[in-house]
Amino acid sequence: MALDDEHSDSDERQRDAEEVGCYGLFRGIAKNLYTHEKWDARSAYKANGPFYCPTCFSDAVLRKCAQKMDHFAHRARLSPVLGPKEKKLHDACTSEICELMQAHFPEGKWAVERLIPENKAHGIKALVPDISGRVGTTRVAIEVQVSALTIPRIVQRTTDYAKRGIALVWIVPLHEPLGDFPFRPRLYERYLHSIFFGRTYYWWAGRGLTVTPVHYGPASRHIEYREWIEDGAEQSAGGFSLPYKIIKTPIYGADISLHRDFLGENRGSFTPENGRKEIPACRIWRDALPVWW
Ligand SMILES: [Zn+2]
Repeated sequence: MALDDEHSDSDERQRDAEEVGCYGLFRGIAKNLYTHEKWDARSAYKANGPFYCPTCFSDAVLRKCAQKMDHFAHRARLSPVLGPKEKKLHDACTSEICELMQAHFPEGKWAVERLIPENKAHGIKALVPDISGRVGTTRVAIEVQVSALTIPRIVQRTTDYAKRGIALVWIVPLHEPLGDFPFRPRLYERYLHSIFFGRTYYWWAGRGLTVTPVHYGPASRHIEYREWIEDGAEQSAGGFSLPYKIIKTPIYGADISLHRDFLGENRGSFTPENGRKEIPACRIWRDALPVWW
């Protein structure tokens, strides 16, 4: 492998780790789920698994392919979000919501993809909210998240809306309901979860203005007890349950409606308790549900 390839390979694994929220597999080491023996991706075979990540305890898969260095990757259920190429579904979602908001607030000038021109005097870029209008006197923008937005872009947009005094809500459209099994929220889902006081708003087709707020609760895995010999010494591990670091149990709040159960709120910048990503000062369109978890 050429040096350049090695660098871009490492960059890619760095991005993966960032996205997943765990660097436990970064050095190419995983453990066998039953024996807890360590395996190096370069010398391991699939038959030496199943593997798990020693840092976050989620399943790991061995990846061997010609273009990349042998490595382990995290594997977990993800939420069934729309992909970047599913513009049709995205547009169906935005027009469904926009029409209903307009019906509830006929004076609200609700529109899809309205251009809000650049404000050079205040250094604010042009914005094109997926859906925007007014609820009473409150200016509201609803962003329907489809492709995996990078955190810097979410921060930029959040800041730009706040500068204009527009209350912003992000909703995440799904192909189907999220279900009850633990899953691994993507980086942007976790970030939105922080912005909205520990909940992410999911939506799926045919729900109109109804969204489901989901809190990411703890999930754990049972690690079986095993003894083994490593480097001539007796080792043992397991026999307990460990909380996953990046896999969460969806804890559902009551279904709420975008036209009835939300209000505008300014919140100052803050750094989430266990997150390194600072949330900028923002103006959000949030629900008023008491904490349900
Ligand atoms: Zn991990």
